[in-house]
Amino acid sequence: MKYIGAHVSVDGGVANAPLRAAEMNMKAFALFTRNPSRWKSAPITAKEADNFRERCASLGFTPDKILPHDSFLINLGAPDAAKLEMSRAAFLDEMKRCQQLGLTMLNFHPGSHLNLIDEDECIRTIAESINITLDKTTGVMAVIESTAGQGSNLGFKFEQIAAIIDKVEDKSRVGVCVDTCHTFAAGYDIATPEGYENTWREFDSIIGFPYLKGMHLNDSKKGLGSRVDRHAPLGKGELGSNFFAMLMADQRMNNIPLILETPDEAIWPEEVRWLYSLQGAQ
Ligand SMILES: [Zn+2]
Ligand SMILES: [Zn+2]
Repeated sequence: MKYIGAHVSVDGGVANAPLRAAEMNMKAFALFTRNPSRWKSAPITAKEADNFRERCASLGFTPDKILPHDSFLINLGAPDAAKLEMSRAAFLDEMKRCQQLGLTMLNFHPGSHLNLIDEDECIRTIAESINITLDKTTGVMAVIESTAGQGSNLGFKFEQIAAIIDKVEDKSRVGVCVDTCHTFAAGYDIATPEGYENTWREFDSIIGFPYLKGMHLNDSKKGLGSRVDRHAPLGKGELGSNFFAMLMADQRMNNIPLILETPDEAIWPEEVRWLYSLQGAQ
């Protein structure tokens, strides 16, 4: 079964996120547990956390179908010691918030070398950041997001993600979230049937399907290998409708959260319905 949802707003508190997802007939959702563009955020109160857990339970959202996203400021591979320390502190806080909310995964962008350190050193720093954070928390998995490779962001090649995982001590607490727009922009031609099969074959041999814990479903405004991260509505970008039909027919994406981050929130319910209709047509 496919579990489709979107990255919903937490306006008015995190406990509103499951309500919004349910209103839009979603079976999964993503959220920010703190302000994504600030270093500091007020703690989540015990009451708010209770409300969140109760609503998720009563609406049928189990933790494996909820994919919280970390803040944009965090760079777990930061070359600068002070920035790295701030990033690790914020990431630990995010992990603890997930723990408090009864969540089991935290999706994050691996990190950027900012052209100040080489790729290998950045990868080692990211893995060390993950190890430090996992040591201080329990029950929450670090889910590495595949990137478009914009600027100096790492994680746009499957080999880079595999290299990070390789250095994580507790392999049971690391996973991967593949973003369809990012993967295409990074140069993987998932839009054609042949490219689709080749890409997933590569994913399986380099990273391995057991690590796939979620996906971001976005079409791409920019072309193959553009290394530019611009999301388009589903079927309206360079990936096109046929790609989403292939994905919906693919059993390997069953039972994980499939999260829309498409630009027009007003059409999310329509996009979700459209995806399920593609599956019905199989
Ligand atoms: Zn992301
Ligand atoms: Zn993106």
